[in-house]
Amino acid sequence: MLPFPSIAALRARYPLIERLIALQPVSWFNPGIAPAAEALADVGLDAHDVAAASARLARFAPFLARAFPETQAAGGVIESPVVPLRAMQAALAARLGREIPGKLWLKQDSHLPISGSIKARGGIYEVLKHAETLALDAGLITEQGDYAMLASDAVRAFFGQYAIAVGSTGNLGLSIGIMGARLGFRTTVHMSADARQWKKDKLRAHGVTVIEYASDYSVAVEQGRRQAEDDPTCHFVDDENSHDLFLGYAVAAERLKKQFETQGVPVDAGHPLFVYLPCGVGGGPGGVAFGLKLAFGDHVHCVFAEPTHSPCMLLGVHTGLHELISVQDIGIDNITAADGLAVGRPSGFVGRAMQRLVDGYATVSDDELYRLLALLEQTEGWRLEPSAVAGFAGIVPALEQARYAPTLANATHLVWGTGGGMVPEVEMDGYVARGRDLLGREV
Ligand SMILES: *Cc1c(COP(=O)(O)O)cnc(C)c1O
Repeated sequence: MLPFPSIAALRARYPLIERLIALQPVSWFNPGIAPAAEALADVGLDAHDVAAASARLARFAPFLARAFPETQAAGGVIESPVVPLRAMQAALAARLGREIPGKLWLKQDSHLPISGSIKARGGIYEVLKHAETLALDAGLITEQGDYAMLASDAVRAFFGQYAIAVGSTGNLGLSIGIMGARLGFRTTVHMSADARQWKKDKLRAHGVTVIEYASDYSVAVEQGRRQAEDDPTCHFVDDENSHDLFLGYAVAAERLKKQFETQGVPVDAGHPLFVYLPCGVGGGPGGVAFGLKLAFGDHVHCVFAEPTHSPCMLLGVHTGLHELISVQDIGIDNITAADGLAVGRPSGFVGRAMQRLVDGYATVSDDELYRLLALLEQTEGWRLEPSAVAGFAGIVPALEQARYAPTLANATHLVWGTGGGMVPEVEMDGYVARGRDLLGREV
């Protein structure tokens, strides 16, 4: 039985649903957003929680620098650059036949060390937090000690008594799997049908157990959760509800604030910041947006972007039904080339926590994702996966909102590039070729 009257009644009440069903690119800016000072209370977490997560990551920096040499130069901090996109901005404007006021930037979580996607924030943070709890309880470390010792064989053997499991469309599995296996945990990743073969291969090469499902993300998560429940030594990373994941993502914002300060990019009442975040189940963009609201208050406007075939967060927030409704309920297939965003049912935790803090939502077709990634490659040389460029689709809808008009000339537009760093070259070549072909047909 459906937890709402009927699909027909929903369609009558929310005309936008017709356009979602027709797979049209749509946008919706929530009239119910509220000042950060008021709406941050909805989240149930606060600045102290984010500060604690940040401090925990700092404690682990010596371990990360030792266990993952690619993080050594940054002192064991997993962070990505923020870069201007002048040529891409000009190309987008030319293609749209309209000006894009303000300046366009890219946050390169696509190039985060260890797992090459935004999941290197939340996913890795949750594994580290779990490891710390076990190691502290066992008296192996103290919070003041040197966590580099956690990279030792003896500690690996200790963690080998415990298991970690996760359900994933791919990138979360990569992050949890690589970190879990490195620490010594018995690690299992339950993967949905849309997960790419190379991600499964890579995980198996790291010694991770990969269980494949013919169905979608929600089923993989459900099966993973059930198997983990039968094993008292197993920690299940719950992508749909985890506060730890959310906080791991949220730490990004204070770091971004420092990066903007260093680069001389102002964010204030006269210089609004627009951040465009690809959204799957919601934890990644939700956590980052939460951090951004703490860091920049009402000067930041967050826009979530989803595939036209998987608009789960838009559907959940727009109808107020959150995780009680899925895109399949309204006849949408949840099949998209944006595998990181192929989620049919949103996180109810994130939807409820963030609904008054996220300004807007936009959907984008798979073809447009290919075009955008090819355009980005052509103009800037950055190679991102289809999911990771979804944010670009939020720019025009935001520019069209009358409420932003007065300060747009001084706006900073930040597209959060969420993945692609680990995509094998041949696969990436295929994405780019596809996008170029589609771009070529446009003119
Ligand atoms: C997971 C993922 C997202 C979205 O994160 P959610 O927590 O699922 O909303 C966006 N982009 C990429 C590349 C991802 O892997």
